Amino acid sequence: MKKHAIIPIFIPHKGCPNDCVFCNQRKITARTEDVTPRDARNIIDTWLTTLDQCETVEAAFYGGSFTGLEIDEQSAYLAVTYEYKQKGLIDKIHLSTRPDYIDRDILDNLKKYSVDTIELGVQSFDDKVLQLSNRGHSSEDVYRAADLIKEYGFEFGIQLMIGLPGDSLESCIMSARKTAELNPALARLYPTIVLDDTRLYEMYESGEYQALSREEAVLRTKEMYKILDDAGIFIMRVGLKSTDIIGEGGAINGGTYHPAFRQLVEGEIAKERIEPLLAKSPELADHAAKAGLSKQSRVTVSSNSRWYSNMIGHKACNRRYFEEAYPELSFKWTVDDNLGDGCFAVTYR
Ligand code: SF4
Repeated sequence: MKKHAIIPIFIPHKGCPNDCVFCNQRKITARTEDVTPRDARNIIDTWLTTLDQCETVEAAFYGGSFTGLEIDEQSAYLAVTYEYKQKGLIDKIHLSTRPDYIDRDILDNLKKYSVDTIELGVQSFDDKVLQLSNRGHSSEDVYRAADLIKEYGFEFGIQLMIGLPGDSLESCIMSARKTAELNPALARLYPTIVLDDTRLYEMYESGEYQALSREEAVLRTKEMYKILDDAGIFIMRVGLKSTDIIGEGGAINGGTYHPAFRQLVEGEIAKERIEPLLAKSPELADHAAKAGLSKQSRVTVSSNSRWYSNMIGHKACNRRYFEEAYPELSFKWTVDDNLGDGCFAVTYR
């Protein structure tokens, strides 16, 4: 049985007068019909017909900057989700917005309609990156909004982007550390994707902006992932899904998009953690000395079932890597569900 389901209600660019360099929502909005509260009701009804096996169901307003809408308009959407929550048909209400669209009046209204989770599109804690990306808010706005959201007792989340203009490995790490300090319940990590119809695309075409290579995007995301994971923050998403982009009509430029981006990141983490277990193991030295390096020592590498495909790597790249790097070892890859997520064990047979 699926434990948790999210009903996404996309409200493209509604409520957002901004023009972040990477965002094509304004262009999408010009081509699409408004999503009305009645549409939100229809979306929820349609999804609910498929979700009767789920333990918890959450309705989530994504896409624009929800709390940038006029308060009456916010209330019209929230009245729909509130009704479904009151009837017990959904369990949670979730929305995403910008840090500078949070104040007490807004939060009072969200409380009235029983909203549970507020996700902030932070993108970076580096003010230079925010400015070059034309975000229109500063890191100060993030701290103020996070404090207020926590004071009101909402669950909150933070979205960060990797590879925005002016970004570096150091600023990504700084952003992840600042996020960990704010201690949100959840986080999402999105490598920057250059979409058509954006200012970023023009910058990319003119050479003013260079998209990250996939390797660099994976490396930066990996370092951020580890900081957030070590802090106990639930990493809800790593990388965009194809439907997030293609479904909205945006063509992708540059190489950072990968449909299995999360696996690329988690696979790198697995490789990084398994390597020292092999290389520094006194057991291996002992075993190899006894067996002689001309003979193969047999080694078993284990992870839990959730991390098995990460241990093997995307298209078995980790398995191939280890088999080539350690020709004196004969590998067996197994599941041990006593291990935690992201933990590995190496034993010799
Ligand atoms: S705030 Fe969000 S919706 Fe508005 S332009 Fe920026 S990314 Fe797009």
